[in-house]
Amino acid sequence: MKLETDIGTIGRLAEKNRDADWAFRSYLKSCDLSAEEIDALVHKHYKAVSEQIACRKCGNCCRVVGPLFKEKDVQRLAAHLKITGEAFIRDYLKPEEDGEGRPLKSLPCPFLSDNSCVVYEQRPDDCRSYPHLHKKDFVFRLMQAVSNCSICPIVYHVYNRLKAEIGPKTRG
Ligand code: SF4
Ligand code: SF4
Repeated sequence: MKLETDIGTIGRLAEKNRDADWAFRSYLKSCDLSAEEIDALVHKHYKAVSEQIACRKCGNCCRVVGPLFKEKDVQRLAAHLKITGEAFIRDYLKPEEDGEGRPLKSLPCPFLSDNSCVVYEQRPDDCRSYPHLHKKDFVFRLMQAVSNCSICPIVYHVYNRLKAEIGPKTRG
């Protein structure tokens, strides 16, 4: 069955599920599965879901989240645009606040054009990693995951598959 990818519909469904999603977050933090076992399930669902959803047709994270730029991202993008790193920072980025990287001055990302990334090969590492479901320790990033359910169709479907597979109502 085709997965829902319309971002308006995903947002409405995520809002409807919000209480259940936060309750599942609490459940995940206290259930008897290890962080490694939860990661294995998340990675399985992420692989299956991401194979069915084309990010290039979505781009919602580029419109509403935006990446954090590390120094090497700045240098890579600046070199591509044939400007200095200082000019790139001046034109596109805000100051870094928490040591995680500099955010964009404004959203949607200025490098999004006709729903495509015009700097795709040089995009920041944060863009390559989003929605971060391939990483380890999902159980320690649950607030981010629940928040992303209304933003990213991939996260929405992975979280709901996880809920259906191991949530308290379906287990045992
Ligand atoms: S990562 Fe999620 S929000 Fe970003 S483009 Fe892909 S499906 Fe859309
Ligand atoms: S750099 Fe590209 S992939 Fe990253 S947010 Fe901007 S448009 Fe999206």
